[in-house]
Amino acid sequence: MIYMDNAATTPVCKNAYEAMLPYFSTKFGNPSGAYELGRKCRKDIENARETIASSIGARPGEIYFTSGGTESDNWAIMSTMLNEIPGIGVPHMITSKIEHSAVMNTCKQLEKYGVEVTYLDVDEYGLISLNQLKSAIKKNTRLISIMYANNEIGTIEPITEIGRIANYHNIIFHTDAVQAFAHVNINVNRSGIDMLSASSHKFGGPKGVGFLYIRNTVDIEPLIFGGGQEMGKRSGTENVAGIVGMAEACRYRINNLNSIMNREVQLRNYMIDKLVANKNNREIRCSLNGHPVKRLPGNINITIPGKNAKKLVEELNRKGICISAGSACSAMKDSSSHVLKAIGLSKEMAESTIRITLSENNTREETDIVIKAIMF
Ligand code: PLP
Repeated sequence: MIYMDNAATTPVCKNAYEAMLPYFSTKFGNPSGAYELGRKCRKDIENARETIASSIGARPGEIYFTSGGTESDNWAIMSTMLNEIPGIGVPHMITSKIEHSAVMNTCKQLEKYGVEVTYLDVDEYGLISLNQLKSAIKKNTRLISIMYANNEIGTIEPITEIGRIANYHNIIFHTDAVQAFAHVNINVNRSGIDMLSASSHKFGGPKGVGFLYIRNTVDIEPLIFGGGQEMGKRSGTENVAGIVGMAEACRYRINNLNSIMNREVQLRNYMIDKLVANKNNREIRCSLNGHPVKRLPGNINITIPGKNAKKLVEELNRKGICISAGSACSAMKDSSSHVLKAIGLSKEMAESTIRITLSENNTREETDIVIKAIMF
């Protein structure tokens, strides 16, 4: 099998796998337990919190473990937006037209409750306009939620500039960094980020666990109520194995981030060159979607005119190759991608678009096999 759908999910890395094993046997204690078995698990969770916090320049007390990216996005947005602003009324928020459905559908739900949402356009590369952002700010704007990097086209948004604008206007800045965390260098202080969502299974950790960074100056209500775990903000017995596995995956990636990024960029550029320059086949003219430089190291999103992406994905599947037509989260739906529409692709072009997302474990040989399978 050749796996090139790492934006959908990643295999659990060896370090994370091994670190998790004891929690399925001897280390089974409840971290709230008042005895050694539980206390050890509590200590392991706190170590994991430190690892995650230091990877983004945060403090341990600013990291809250959740069930993944979707919960983190829902929590950050719902809890910030549901209360009225005293003396002003219903709050307003700004997001973009290319957010993941975890953000998009949360905003749609909030609109049903009367919250005002502005959806910013993006340019042909998928970048928001900072001027448009500035002009969208109103006196009741409480939140800006813009993704760090897009899950389909890989474009990295101008996060530090957005943070500066948000901070200047005293608006909370949340970013969905599910595709970016542990893939590119992130520092919440340098970029003025107040809340950041991440998900373990996108960087070599297990599924069903993630975190929300909440700056200690931001006070948001819990989304999930119960026994008061996670400093009273996110109840439920902790997923100890998942949290420890996520932290190990994070440690591995952060310690090796520069070499991982270099390797992925090299493979990515090699594939883009072959597919888009298309020297081997003059009949088909592929085009790259997303920004040529401001993009995730492993992301390739290309349109191949005349090819049906879904059929191509199925053909490749029969050859043991895993890639995606659009994002995995929308692959089950029949509608074409809102992201490709937002960057100006027609429905026909969108339906001829595939996404290849590489990891540092892919080889040059694998890329050659996949290029051949796509083009011939
Ligand atoms: N946000 C983005 C940008 C994503 O790519 C994904 C998953 O694909 C999510 C949120 C949802 O994360 P999770 O699968 O952990 O719920």
